[in-house]
Amino acid sequence: MKRKNTSVYIGVGSNLGDRKANIAKAIELVKLIKGVELKRSSSIYETEPVGGPPQGDFLNGVFEIETTLNPYRLLEELQKIEKHLGRKRTVKNGPRAVDLDILLFGKRKVESKNLKIPHPRMCKREFVLRGLKELVP
Ligand code: ADP
Ligand code: MG
Repeated sequence: MKRKNTSVYIGVGSNLGDRKANIAKAIELVKLIKGVELKRSSSIYETEPVGGPPQGDFLNGVFEIETTLNPYRLLEELQKIEKHLGRKRTVKNGPRAVDLDILLFGKRKVESKNLKIPHPRMCKREFVLRGLKELVP
């Protein structure tokens, strides 16, 4: 039986290295995940870091996918991409080549240790709301 596709919104950010290229690569790799189809992308915004040590500004955007994966499997795949693109988890809220966050997953709510949906810090980040607003008027 074919599983139903769910609309999912993902936030992408980078403030290390070639930020634009990092975001482009991340989106290319997301397209290659089995069970994921890229639908639409927002504009890319330059934003100041929230919390953490002093660090460079971010480029951020939001994109929409449809997927047959469950939220946990999707997070696993996104974390593989973060790792592959050189993300090192050294400092909390520190600089990162690529950050991929699941913002919304259909109408689902998830409250587990490693995964919270809707993304808890989503509403505090202006660019997230700006990006989302472009895709979901
Ligand atoms: P940030 O909150 O700045 O994105 P990280 O990318 O380092 O920080 O994420 C830390 C942890 O957040 C991840 O290891 C992941 O398990 C957890 N997490 C919880 N909810 C989500 C979500 N909706 N999307 C992505 N990661 C999440
Ligand atoms: Mg993250």
